[in-house]
Formats: sequence, C-alpha cells, structure tokens
Amino acid sequence: MQYEGRIFRPPSEAESLILQSTVGCSQNGCAFCSMYKEKRFHIRPVAAVCADVDEIASGPWARAFSRVFLADGDALMRKTEEQLAIFAHIYARLPATERITCYASPASIAAKTDAELRSLAQGGLNMVYMGLESGSDAVLARMNKGATAAEIIRAGQRVRAAGMRLSVTAIIGLGGASGSEEHAIETGRALSAMQPEYIGLLTLMLEGEEPLYADYRAGRFTLPDQQGLLRELRTLIAHTDSEGSVLRANHASNYLNLRGTLNADRPRLIAQLDAALAGRVGLKAEWMRGL
Ligand code: SF4
Repeated sequence: MQYEGRIFRPPSEAESLILQSTVGCSQNGCAFCSMYKEKRFHIRPVAAVCADVDEIASGPWARAFSRVFLADGDALMRKTEEQLAIFAHIYARLPATERITCYASPASIAAKTDAELRSLAQGGLNMVYMGLESGSDAVLARMNKGATAAEIIRAGQRVRAAGMRLSVTAIIGLGGASGSEEHAIETGRALSAMQPEYIGLLTLMLEGEEPLYADYRAGRFTLPDQQGLLRELRTLIAHTDSEGSVLRANHASNYLNLRGTLNADRPRLIAQLDAALAGRVGLKAEWMRGL
C-alpha cells in the first residue's frame, strides 16, 4: 500500500490503520497550516481504496487493527454512497474493525443532508475530527479558515445530532497577542455550543512552511509569550461549559499537559494553570515541543 505525500493523523489514531481515501485538503488555505500545501486535493477512486483494504486483508495484518482512520484532510468530501461502499468493504474484509473515523471540514459536513449524515453514522463512521481553531470570526477570517464560527458550530451540532461522536480542535495563540482574550472567550463559547465528546487544544507553532510565518517574521503577527499562552488557555477553559467533554491539552506543542473531563475537572485544570502561572509547576522546555 502506497501513500501519496506526507500522512497526518490525530494523536488518538496512533494505533489505527490509516487508509488514504482522499488526498490533501479541499480548503488548503489556512494561514497557520502547512500540512497539505504540497498536495492538490483529489478523491481517490473507490476501487483504489478498496484495493488497499484488500491488500491489508490478505496479509498478516488482517486482524491487527480495530480502528481505521480515513486520511487525508477531508475524507467526507466524497459522495455519501461511495463512502458507504468503502465502509461496508472495510467492515466485511477487516472483521476486527470496531470503528472508522476521519477529519472533516465544516464545508464537507455542510454539503451533506441530515439524512446523509445519519446514514454515514449507521454505516459505521463513528467519529469525526473537526478543526474549530477559534470561535472568533475575526481570527477565523484573518487565518483564512473559510468558515465562520456559526458555520463551524452548526456543522459540529449536525454531526452529533446524526449520531456520530465529535472531536474538536482549537489552537492556543491563534489570536496573536492582541486578540488573545477575545480568541479565548469566543472559542470557549463555540465549544460550549457544540458540546463535543472530545476537545483537543494545541499551541500554535510557526516553523517556516505556514503562510502565517511571513507575517510572524515581519512583525505583523505576534504570538503571546509563554505566560500569555497559559493565561489564554485558562480563560478558554473558564469559558467552556461542556458537560462530559474530555479535554486534552497534552499535545507535543503545549507547554503544560492538561487532561480532564468537563465540567467536573474545570476547577482542577484552572488550579493547575494558576500554579504554572505562579511558577510552581515546571513547563515543557522549548526544545521538547513539536508538532
Ligand atoms: S487547517 Fe485543516 S482545513 Fe485548514 S488547510 Fe490545514 S488541513 Fe485544511
């Protein structure tokens, strides 16, 4: 099985079989993202994806995977009937499969009817990973996300209403130093409106390939300093009312690893951040951070 270009997957899919259903990202314009910039988005033929499944099914790995993650950045862009054919093939040929997940953009979710989303859930798509990035429309516009906060919230709510679990990612630092507080408050509000099963919080890192990097180098975009990032994270969590959501800020890019279930663990998470802000907790060294 051969992949086209670099492959990305959520940290929680480390043990999953990665099947490349689409290549690249249909949006591919976010200023902070370099993941698929070298790829032109296209949808692989159903036969090619099913051939990959058959290759795994006929080898020693046939029963090795209970989870399948459909790459790349926007697997839901495919027609629903084609998705369902692929899901059926996966469950038939790889009988150990217990769940299928993928990334989905707000646009690809918006393009599906409620009935289509329900049929995808019934066909075995158990969870969708969606990037909110920020709940602030000003930040989303500046970052060229291609969707407003209301559109992203609506997409997330429709995924959950269809019977799929929802994992939402937001990025600490994305509002820059000047927009930090608004970014934190509005992101907390957006997460509260979606009530996702999982919330993943990353910290913005600019390494050179992102379109935003030029603004950063030229001083047109300023990242909050370490204390500012911790304060932003504290404000975000304080404004997130999402009962039952598992919150993880344990990505390699974060200075402080946090994990808890909202809302019960919110006071503990805030206390951890207060301790870090007061210098009573060690933070991850810069060289240990990565994406
Ligand atoms: S952040 Fe997501 S939607 Fe935006 S360009 Fe990257 S992969 Fe595409």
